[in-house]
Amino acid sequence: MLIAGNWKMFKGPAEAEAFAVELRGRLEGVSGVDVAVCPPYTSLAAVVQALDRSEIAVYAQNVHWAGDGAYTGEVSPAMLLELGVAGSIVGHSERRQLFGETDETTAQRAAAALAAGLRVIACVGETESEREAGETEAVVRRQTEAIRDAVGTHDGLTLAYEPVWAIGTGKTATPAMAQDAHATIRSVLDVPILYGGSVKADNAAELCGQPDVDGALVGGASLFVDSFASICETAARIS
Ligand code: PEP
Repeated sequence: MLIAGNWKMFKGPAEAEAFAVELRGRLEGVSGVDVAVCPPYTSLAAVVQALDRSEIAVYAQNVHWAGDGAYTGEVSPAMLLELGVAGSIVGHSERRQLFGETDETTAQRAAAALAAGLRVIACVGETESEREAGETEAVVRRQTEAIRDAVGTHDGLTLAYEPVWAIGTGKTATPAMAQDAHATIRSVLDVPILYGGSVKADNAAELCGQPDVDGALVGGASLFVDSFASICETAARIS
């Protein structure tokens, strides 16, 4: 079971480092769960250092497919590896909705990052209108197939099912909805699958307890040591 905290555009280097030191202390002695944090780019180095020789992995929130080149604003897999970063999220719905990320670019990012030796959490999930139109299965299938076609199964690949309507809204998929979507994803690509979308300490056990849910990608609740550590402890207990 993996619990990953997506900090989005929160926590500059000083705040990120203090958080990492506190989280490290809080999770000492917690076993049976893999934990990762995903700080913004400018805080990666500080967090890698603060978590040196700990069990907590550091992931970026995005990564480009090229080794280097004229790609203003982008960061390559090799640059992340040089910092000591273990992996990256790709295809987060905020990237898809606000920054033009597509199934194709998500798949390209995932393939290049894995080939370079990073781990990857690739996100899929339907919007509210797609769910209302009965398109959830078709959408997650299409998004997952794009990743599968570029990568296939790979030891370093994890998927995250994140219904867009549940991200940062306080609305959570019911455990049954999450299980249905995860089963669809697994039928296309058999890799670990995290659930993401308003995961909190009080709903983590039920969501992570579903048979096809292998952990959680946590946004808002990962910004506070208490709530994030509680989710990690819950996952450790039920895994
Ligand atoms: C996310 O950003 O991936 C996420 C799931 O956010 P939240 O937990 O705040 O809904």
